[in-house]
Amino acid sequence: MRILPPPLLTLFLLLTAWQMSLSCAADGKARATQPNFVVIFCDDLGYGDLSCFGHPTIRTPNLDRLAQEGQKWTTFYAAANVCTPSRAALMTGRYPIRSGMTSDANTVLFPDSTGGLPASEITIAEALKDLGYATACVGKWHLGHLPQYLPTRNGFDSYFGIPYSNDMDRVDKKTSQFELAEQEQFQAYNCPLMRDEKIIERPTDQRTLTKRYTEEAVKKIHELKDRPFFLYLAHNLPHIPLFRSSGFKGHSPAGIYGDVLEEIDWSVGQVAAALKDIGIEKNTLLIFTSDNGPWLTFKTHGGSAGLLRDGKGSSWEGGHRVPAVMSWPGTLSPGIVYQMGSTLDLLPTFVSLAGGTPPQDRILDGYDLTPTLKGTGPSPREEMFFYKGAQLYAVRKGDYKIHFATYTAYVKQEPVVHDPPLLYEINHDPAERFDITPEHPELLEELKVLAQKHRDSVIPVPDQLASRTRRNN
Ligand code: MG
Repeated sequence: MRILPPPLLTLFLLLTAWQMSLSCAADGKARATQPNFVVIFCDDLGYGDLSCFGHPTIRTPNLDRLAQEGQKWTTFYAAANVCTPSRAALMTGRYPIRSGMTSDANTVLFPDSTGGLPASEITIAEALKDLGYATACVGKWHLGHLPQYLPTRNGFDSYFGIPYSNDMDRVDKKTSQFELAEQEQFQAYNCPLMRDEKIIERPTDQRTLTKRYTEEAVKKIHELKDRPFFLYLAHNLPHIPLFRSSGFKGHSPAGIYGDVLEEIDWSVGQVAAALKDIGIEKNTLLIFTSDNGPWLTFKTHGGSAGLLRDGKGSSWEGGHRVPAVMSWPGTLSPGIVYQMGSTLDLLPTFVSLAGGTPPQDRILDGYDLTPTLKGTGPSPREEMFFYKGAQLYAVRKGDYKIHFATYTAYVKQEPVVHDPPLLYEINHDPAERFDITPEHPELLEELKVLAQKHRDSVIPVPDQLASRTRRNN
């Protein structure tokens, strides 16, 4: 090695130190511009269930305020109409047909299912972890409860929650679900509550579930505040059976369903207050939405899709279109967004805002919504594909939606195949009442071609929902 004379050595060391300080400053700057992400995901909350979306007797002042100060999206779609596929889509930015997480054999994963989200899928948590984020999952997972499928194996540093739906592991099958909820019989459901990969309570006392999820979420925000973080808070409620803590009993003029919603709204207020108290609200994008439409068969224990047709399980608008409220003070362009967005778009949007590039080695179905968030451009989303299980039932492109088949979840009728398909002009007719097929043969052809192009892009993969050991749920 050549020895430098002392003056040159000093200059070399000074230059090296200067270069190092420059690169550290750049890293620090990049880190400082990486926003936090908080996703609050409800289960079976309908399009019409928030007061800011028109509900006359459910009061959601915290969400109303966030919607007023931030963005209210009126045309935001879950990418499936039931729990497991919808969550797979949110986590991966891909229609669940691509990951094997939607199926004609079973609608969702059950406690005796053996499948789950394949390790080959890239979750939002994994993508953000690669960009230096801390990650926390609180609440319902429903992408596989066996160890290899848990949140902790899918990019999350920690997990606290029930790994599937709160009506599963039902022990008392004689008493009606309505009575069990009204009598607060949480023991009738032997649901496990997990911390990371261990069961810490069984049955879960669901009366305090929303409260405990909230406390955990607030604790995580305090713990992670000094680095960019992604917090996924997925409430088990308002999926039946309905439970709420003692302070919310009789809270709402809308009955037990209203009580549950008003406690969730309180929870949103707690999370928003924590961000504000710490002083990180201006560096945090918070998104509140739902996994699918309301479970209409449960009458007053299910929610409302407002003016939209049908609900959970259906490819009518009421099954897929969900309320979405977004908050990011100082960065979001406030107002009502009428353009399309989807839970599919969260992964590419978050990765882009964090300074990364979405996965390039696979088909992604999500779009980067940054221009719409910041008010610099229209939403890049122009189409949506609607599945029931593994079958493509409907397609929306721009203002028009075509139904190849429909399923009326409310009365659990057999699916009806439509030939010719039904066609609706969705912005004029959001309730999908007036079929305009005869007037627009050219649109029918265009949408059929788009549907076929989508079908052709799907590579067959193993069905993760098909295999079960007992089939007793
Ligand atoms: Mg659901």
